[in-house]
Amino acid sequence: MPKIPVKVVTWDDVTNWTLKVAEKIKEQNYQADIIIAIARGGMVPARLLADYLGVLDVLSIKVEHWVTTAGATPEAKIKYPYTLNLSGKRVIIMDDIADTGDSFILAKRFVEENFRPEEIKTASMQVIKPTSKYVPDFFGDCVNEWAWFMYPWNYWEDMINLTKKIIEEIKRVPSVEELEKMFKESYGITTPPVSLDKILEEMKRRKNI
Ligand code: AMP
Repeated sequence: MPKIPVKVVTWDDVTNWTLKVAEKIKEQNYQADIIIAIARGGMVPARLLADYLGVLDVLSIKVEHWVTTAGATPEAKIKYPYTLNLSGKRVIIMDDIADTGDSFILAKRFVEENFRPEEIKTASMQVIKPTSKYVPDFFGDCVNEWAWFMYPWNYWEDMINLTKKIIEEIKRVPSVEELEKMFKESYGITTPPVSLDKILEEMKRRKNI
């Protein structure tokens, strides 16, 4: 059976961590004109941060790295590159988590070269200290042991991917009861954020099973 430590993140966690990021930015008196979300994970955090700081301009760049739950592609890439003139602007690049840190390293370089703003700061809700090559200027929560964090905007996608891993291993579609047991054993999830019968139903709709 697959063994992956998974932590279910609640909306309250998201609120607390993003508020903490905003507090730190205010303490340093960094006046951002624009927040650039690293899509997709940074989109909700960036929108919240914009609200807390009173920033009206939120843009996005799509970085692809971890395509499936807990499975990285070897290299981070900008999916739809474009050019902008942000001269004279102060920006914050925001993501949900720095795990390898590759997305931040790439996004920062991309923004420097293609948008040319006056100043760039980086922010994430979480940073995984032992694995990340990059520590953002502002973060809300520092993690000391690697886990896969299941964010509320990714519950369905993550639960489906975690179910797929189990199906690959046992080579059949388990019953809801079996799946519940396996989610506990493999991922340490005792209370799934979406009921497992709904997940199996959705997997059928998507023709995954
Ligand atoms: P990185 O390895 O820092 O380039 O991570 C790229 C993106 O993948 C992050 O912004 C998240 O959206 C996602 N991701 C990577 N690692 C995790 C993790 N441990 N838990 C949840 N999401 C993750």
